[in-house]
Amino acid sequence: MIALSLAEIAEVVGGQTHDIPDPSVLVTGEVVRDSREAGPGSLFVAFVGERVDGHDFAAQVVEAGAAAVLASRPVGVPAIVVEDVQAALGALARHVVARLGATLVALTGSAGKTSTKDLVAQVLRSKAPTVFTPGSLNNEIGLPLTALTATEDTRFLVLEMGARGIGHIRYLTGLTPPRIGLVLNVGSAHIGEFGGREQIAQAKGELVESLPPAEEGGVAILNADDPYVRAMASRTKAKVILFGESGEADVSAENVRLTDSGQPSFRLHTPSGASDVTMRLYGEHHVSNALAAAAVAHELGMSADEIARALSEAGSLSRWRMEVTERPDGVTVVNDAYNANPESMKAALRALAAMGKGRRTWAVLGKMAELGDEALAEHDAVGRLAVRLNVSKLVAVGGREAAWLQLGAYNEGSWGEESVHVSDAQAAVDLLRSELRPGDVVLVKASRSVGLESVAQALLETG
Ligand code: ATP
Ligand code: MG
Repeated sequence: MIALSLAEIAEVVGGQTHDIPDPSVLVTGEVVRDSREAGPGSLFVAFVGERVDGHDFAAQVVEAGAAAVLASRPVGVPAIVVEDVQAALGALARHVVARLGATLVALTGSAGKTSTKDLVAQVLRSKAPTVFTPGSLNNEIGLPLTALTATEDTRFLVLEMGARGIGHIRYLTGLTPPRIGLVLNVGSAHIGEFGGREQIAQAKGELVESLPPAEEGGVAILNADDPYVRAMASRTKAKVILFGESGEADVSAENVRLTDSGQPSFRLHTPSGASDVTMRLYGEHHVSNALAAAAVAHELGMSADEIARALSEAGSLSRWRMEVTERPDGVTVVNDAYNANPESMKAALRALAAMGKGRRTWAVLGKMAELGDEALAEHDAVGRLAVRLNVSKLVAVGGREAAWLQLGAYNEGSWGEESVHVSDAQAAVDLLRSELRPGDVVLVKASRSVGLESVAQALLETG
């Protein structure tokens, strides 16, 4: 964080100083919520969780060198005491980003936020110092903590924003107001919780409503291929830039194809020129993510060649997303077990099909959570697609949803023993261990709650 005195922090968050002999002492380290990360000069934020109370670690973090604790009660060591620690953290983030010279880029969407955020970050950091959300820390606590890691040198601050309901994004943009806002898609993630796609669009669109008007540099980057996102153009005063695979978008892709290894390749068009991209990431869904990142980079002054080079070099910064590992015996394991929704399931299956040309392919799939009324139809559609793509074997893992996957495959025809339904991850591992042959490609994917990464890990451990 930029150096701030305890007195200034107390003022910004509207808190009382307790047990602070010298309020001019500076916080020069990071703002942390995990006591193990508290180092010299840090500010420890004490949250009261379900199992642990951060206040219990106050003495320990000060011992480790922390300048003070941001707390909701006096703790006997230097502390800034506030009523609401989360609100105080937000106020501090808002204060700090206003002082930075960095351009704030925020992105949201139903699927691909983290993948795209990682792409945006890798492209922008090839140009200038960039701070970005680590992993998926996209909520009311992770977002301000990320923003607070920026320093005077930071030119670009790239923030993932998650929404589980109306008003969430508005809250987040209030903490760290972006100049550039990117909306990827309105899919079915969390549709059960939201109540419908219209509501999801309403919630995600709060991002573009928050942007400054075009005259003040506001830019809304919208997916031309997604009608719900495209319609958000009417909800913003910012300049609108469209990205999409169709040529009418401002930033588009031509000649999109998957290489034999399943990596997308295309000609990138931006308003300032065109250049060829071959990605290191797997799966055609990354074309859309790459175009979104290219649109951001274009707006920040990068040329098509610079963008194409950075996109072609970009790797995955977050684990369990299309992580491709080849075993010594020639079996390829594709671990995409981080999460799943209908869009990403289909994209992953198509990547599997491209990678598996001439090889046996296995799709080890589990349930897609939170689909509400659409659950049966969506699992059925995924099972059917596996058959249409000629996946050699579908292993559906888990309960009812797995049965729907298998039923979809069955209904698409020509299948009998090519699709199996097993009860849990261990059963899937046992089956695969006995049946995999050198050269096979195995995709592992399900919603986070299923924890299917254990299957990929077990396959890699035994070699
Ligand atoms: P979360 O809400 O958990 O933070 P996210 O929106 O950050 O998710 P990612 O973690 O990037 O999304 O990806 C989640 C899953 O969606 C992965 O399996 C990934 O392969 C897939 N995915 C990535 N980009 C897209 C896209 N543009 N369309 C559909 N699926 C995608
Ligand atoms: Mg994420």
